[in-house]
Amino acid sequence: MTAMKTEPNYFRASLGMKQEIAPAIAADYHSGIVDWMRANGNVLPLDGITFRLAKEFGFCYGVDKAVDMAYETRLKFPDRRIFLTYEIIHNPSVNNRLKQMGIEFLSGALKGNLTFDDIGPDDVVIMPAFGVPAEYLQQLRAKGSVLVDTTCGSVVHVWKRVEKYAKDGYTSLVHGKALHAETLATVSQAQKMGGHTIVVLDKNQAQLVCDIITGDAPPESIAQLGPMSLSREFDPRKHLDKIGVANQTTMLANESLEIAAMIGAAMEKRHGRENLPAHFRSFDTICSATQERQDAIVDLVQSGHIDMMLVIGGYNSSNTGHLLDIAAATLPAWHISDAAEILSATELRHQPAHEKVRVTATDWLPKRAVSIGLTAGASTPNKAIGEVIERLAELRGVEIPAEILAFKKT
Ligand code: SF4
Repeated sequence: MTAMKTEPNYFRASLGMKQEIAPAIAADYHSGIVDWMRANGNVLPLDGITFRLAKEFGFCYGVDKAVDMAYETRLKFPDRRIFLTYEIIHNPSVNNRLKQMGIEFLSGALKGNLTFDDIGPDDVVIMPAFGVPAEYLQQLRAKGSVLVDTTCGSVVHVWKRVEKYAKDGYTSLVHGKALHAETLATVSQAQKMGGHTIVVLDKNQAQLVCDIITGDAPPESIAQLGPMSLSREFDPRKHLDKIGVANQTTMLANESLEIAAMIGAAMEKRHGRENLPAHFRSFDTICSATQERQDAIVDLVQSGHIDMMLVIGGYNSSNTGHLLDIAAATLPAWHISDAAEILSATELRHQPAHEKVRVTATDWLPKRAVSIGLTAGASTPNKAIGEVIERLAELRGVEIPAEILAFKKT
């Protein structure tokens, strides 16, 4: 990675225009309400409706950096074509804003007509916070374009871990979503070193792997995980002998730890305790921002101060989905992408946990005095949270004081 930093056409950090982009970033993503709440104990008490924010929520350091770099790129290269390989982060409003700024998407929901083949040496290509697969980066380098790589440092940390596993002859077992951009990039890092990989989504899939390791299930049953979860020519008879565990940075932290413990126990059963270090390694690679947001929502739902939770974020955002899982285990909780999902005081369009379709809840908001907890995934701007609060206040016929709406932290 060090060599990359010195290349004139390869940017891995700020392009040096942070001050220049600050007004645009504030205009697009700032919320006076959220800043005011942060300065006032994370609580906004209004007549008959109180809002309480989790202690940690919204844009993480990796997303902050990626969005800043995209804005800087637009400013630094006003006359060049700029491409984004995929959504920069999993938030529709941020991606739409980049599209409005003339940035062309090469894949995903906002993909335009231009393709990878259209990229030339005069173009600029931005890579998202999740990173891109190693072979894709190689192809981009061959184009000679300017590359702006916003891959989060915490993702790179996981890459280093699986590279090391591969170097040492361990198969990387990744707790993650096989088709998630970050996990695709992560497994590619192990594979480029000649390592094998296996992705497990949850404890059920991990149990299947454990059963194969211990001989309680036939090796062929590995096929149940699907081809996208296994490296090419994965042979369970050979490639489950040495395993290193890692995880997508945004998974449910407790589940990742449990999966690591399950695999460790299975390896111990197969190889014996004394031989375990030679066959099993594990590192928790959940990023600190994900961990802090998950811890904060536990604190909020257990505080006894809220009646329900709204979790705000893109529907394809892994970390947002996990925040919903945590909240819904204790309280009524809904995942909404933005304020537009609040159709009326009685109707709320939302995406239930582990489902891919939106449904409409009715009578979700009690008419009595209510305290609503709020959090947002790591790719959700404060502005989206503020708009949800404004929408709910409006439906309750409550005015938010102008000084709160206009609040700016100093
Ligand atoms: S969620 Fe974690 S890994 Fe992902 S961009 Fe944010 S800080 Fe980086």
